[in-house]
Formats: sequence, structure tokens, C-alpha cells
Amino acid sequence: MVSRVIPVNAFDLVLFGATGDLARRKIWPGLFHRFLAGQFADDSRIIGVSRSDLSRADFQAKVSAAISSAHDGDKDKISAFLDLIDYVSVDAAGDRGWDNLEAATRSDVIQAFYLSVAPKFFGAIARRLRDRGIATEESRIVVEKPFGHDLASARTLNAELRACFQEHQIYRIDHYLGKETVQNLMALRFANSLFEPLWNASHIDHVQITVSEKLSVDGRGEYYDQSGAMRDMVQNHLMQLLCLTAMEPPSKFTPNAVRNEKLKVIEALEAVESSDIARGQYRASGDQGSYRDHSGNDKSITESFIGLKVNVANWRWAGTPFYLRTGKCLRERLSEIAVYFRNPPHMIFPGLDVPQGNVLVIRLQPDEGMTLHTTIKDPGPGGMRLTEASLDMTFADSLKDAERPQDAYERLIMDVIRGDQTLFMRGDEVEAAWAWADPIIADWTDRNLKPQQYDVGSSGPEDSLLLMHRDGRRWRPIGN
Ligand code: NAP
Repeated sequence: MVSRVIPVNAFDLVLFGATGDLARRKIWPGLFHRFLAGQFADDSRIIGVSRSDLSRADFQAKVSAAISSAHDGDKDKISAFLDLIDYVSVDAAGDRGWDNLEAATRSDVIQAFYLSVAPKFFGAIARRLRDRGIATEESRIVVEKPFGHDLASARTLNAELRACFQEHQIYRIDHYLGKETVQNLMALRFANSLFEPLWNASHIDHVQITVSEKLSVDGRGEYYDQSGAMRDMVQNHLMQLLCLTAMEPPSKFTPNAVRNEKLKVIEALEAVESSDIARGQYRASGDQGSYRDHSGNDKSITESFIGLKVNVANWRWAGTPFYLRTGKCLRERLSEIAVYFRNPPHMIFPGLDVPQGNVLVIRLQPDEGMTLHTTIKDPGPGGMRLTEASLDMTFADSLKDAERPQDAYERLIMDVIRGDQTLFMRGDEVEAAWAWADPIIADWTDRNLKPQQYDVGSSGPEDSLLLMHRDGRRWRPIGN
């Protein structure tokens, strides 16, 4: 299997927040990789924008440092990439620098404005781009998460952006959608005839979606304490994974056809009972501080873990719950969707245990890939015994001859340049997800509900295990 690089047309990518953490860790290395892959047309340019007063050379030195882990030291390639890069200092919230930005941009190539800055700047930047005529009817605007804190703030952000850009110009990033496996989930479901007939409540017992992290919130605890796991992860990333797993086949693979189907899933979600939610906060362990230490708030009731049971109330999924969980300071870093198929309706091997039945595990990290757990005869003599065997596909193995796997940001930025919104959230999707999440969060606030403590390196709080146990099910282990 060899991956193909499809070159994009010439562009001006204007990156606001070009000196920030996200730009340094993800966006610059991602752009450099795409440049190395030969995807850029010759006269493409990237214009870094931030508040700092930097010379072009100073800025290029920062970019050079940011891409240092992404290259093999080939000076010609590095300097060819840096040649594409310009820098303009602009105050996003004030008037300084906008004339220079106007002078630096071209209107006869694809224009993309990537706002890797705090959401409070989205409206002001969009307005200035429009009022000064820097952006055109064809320009694209890309915004980073978080897209709102609740439904009201998401509506405000949408209104601010839509006052200056049309929906088809707005790219709301959820980088989970840029992951290879996430797109493969769509290929698996809709490019094969094997799974789709079984992809419903008659054949699937339940689905588990897990995004677990080993890291604590240390270093960003103050920020995190304003959001918690529900806002930071469930409303966006886990919701997108749920949508792609549960959605109906779109009639075609176009941005709006896909996003219409995802929206229908969110709109079909039932309100979640408080008894179907487990919230946790990690406690101190050895040298490591507690969540409250890291958040700097010794009375915090914000959750660093959440597990919940979600019902999709439609014909396809009635009776098949989706269990979602995500948290910090858990045993391993792991993201996966596990689809548990029902056991055979009649067991012809009396007295023999079916080890775990058919489970399709779609792994986002680590080792992106898929595993189908099956039950087979335990090989060898000794009569009929059953055991488990896995059909395993790790993408890194099957893509040996291809270039290195792309990071989600690389793919998403190139999709922006191509004008493909399929892997970006539409405004109504984001609002629907907040409309579902808001009452859940409001209930905790109203009742001043304290999360249950859990150990660092565990699978989360006791309540999360009970949530499954009560339904006669078990979470898949997080790590060994
Ligand atoms: P950051 O490290 O704090 O960087 C902020 C950037 O915004 C800097 O380049 C800063 O420029 C610029 N900036 C601040 N005030 C400005 C102003 N008035 N005018 C023009 N530029 C201004 O933030 P970040 O972590 O990169 O995050 C950027 C956005 O991405 C945020 O919305 C964040 O929520 C989101 N995000 C971040 C991550 C991540 O891993 N970091 C992940 C997902 C989403 P100066 O350096 O010149 O001040």
C-alpha cells in the first residue's frame, strides 16, 4: 500500500497564534511534513501572526526550532520551507498591525485564516478581516477548540463568525476527526458489506468509547478547572466518535451529507439520568498532587473523569447503550471504540464458555488499527474447547511501504486548503452537542455534586465500574 500525495493549489495560510503552544507542537511540524511530501504549489505562502514584535528572521528561527523534531537536518529543505514564511505582528483585539497584514496577503490564491488563538478573539478577528476586505467570499476561516463553554456561548461564537463568513467558509476543528482510524471507521462501515447488516441493536449488545489519559492536569489545571472532562472531551471528541459509530450511511460522501447524519445522531440522544453518570477526581498519590492541588482550587468539584451511559433513541440503536468514559491520571493513554456484538442466539457447545464473544475494537491510540476478537476452537487434541483469537490490523504494519502516518493536523489543514469540510464540525452540530450536554452539567452545578475520588493509575472511580456492573457488563481493561 503506498499513500498518494495530492498537491493542493497555491495558498496563503495566515496563522494567528503562530508563536503559541499549539502552533509550535502541531501546526508548524504538520505544515513542514506536508511541504516535504511535495503537497504545496510553488507559490504558496504561510504568514505567521501574533502579538509579539518579531523580525522575520526571529520568527523563522522560532519556526525552525518548532520543526526540529520533524526533519533529518537537511538544510536545503529547511531553508526552502522557511522561505515560504512571513511574519506580521498584529493585535487581534486592537488596530495595530492590520495594515501590514492587508499588505502581506493576496486575494488571487486560496486564502485560509487559521485562528489558533483564544476564542475570545474569534469575533474581533473575523470582523477586521471582513471590514478591511482582507478576506474574500472564497476565504476559509479555521477555528480551534473550545467552541464555546455552553450552548449560549457557542451560539454567540457562531453568530460572530457567521456575521462575517458563510457556513461553507467556516472550519471548526476537532482534531479527532483527522485521525486515520476515525476515517477508517467510515470506510469500514460504508465501503464493506460485511459489517453494516450487523450494525444495529439486533446484533450489537453495546458500544464502549474510551479516551483515557495518563497525564494529570498539572500545568493547565486552572484552565481545566473551568471546563472539566465533560466540556473538554465528551461534548466534542467523544461525541464525534459516537456520531461516526452510530450514524446512518450518508447517501454520498460529501461534507453536508455526512454532517447531516451526524447531527441526527446528536438530536436522537436521550437526556442522561444522573444515575447513569460516574464523575471522578483523582486523589494525591506519592509525590503526585491531587486534582485539587493541580487546579489550585481546594474546593473544586470539577470532574477529571467521567463515565456515562448514553442512549440513542432511534430504530437502529434502541436497546443498545453507548458507554463513554474519559479521564486524566488513568492507567494508560488509550483511545478506542469497542463494539460488542451479541452472543450467538443458541449455544450448541453446552458447558463451554464463550471467552468474550465478538468484539470489534477500533484503536485511535496507541497503534492506530482495528482488532476483531473471535471465538475459535482451542487448537490441538483434547476435544472441543473454545478460546479467543484476534484478527488484528495495525495500520503501521499495513502501511510499511507508505510514508509515515500523517498527524491529524496535517490532514485537516490540507482539507481546509482543498475546501473539504467533511472532517470539520458544522455550527448546528456543535450547538446540538451543547444542547445535550448543558442540562447534565447544570444538574451537577445545581446540586453542588462532588465527584468521587479515584487513584492515580486506576481505571477511574468505583461508580464507573458499578455503572457497568449494574447492567451486567464490564469495561474493557485500560492497559494490562
Ligand atoms: P498559547 O500558547 O497561549 O498561544 C496564544 C497565541 O495567541 C500566541 O501566539 C499569542 O501571541 C497569540 N495572541 C495572544 N493575544 C493576542 C493578541 N491580542 N493579538 C494577536 N495574537 C495574540 O495558546 P495555544 O495553546 O497555542 O492555544 C491556541 C488555541 O488553540 C486556543 O484556543 C486553545 O484552546 C486551542 N487549543 C490548544 C491546544 C494545545 O495543545 N495547545 C489544543 C487544542 C486547542 P504572542 O505569543 O505574540 O503573545
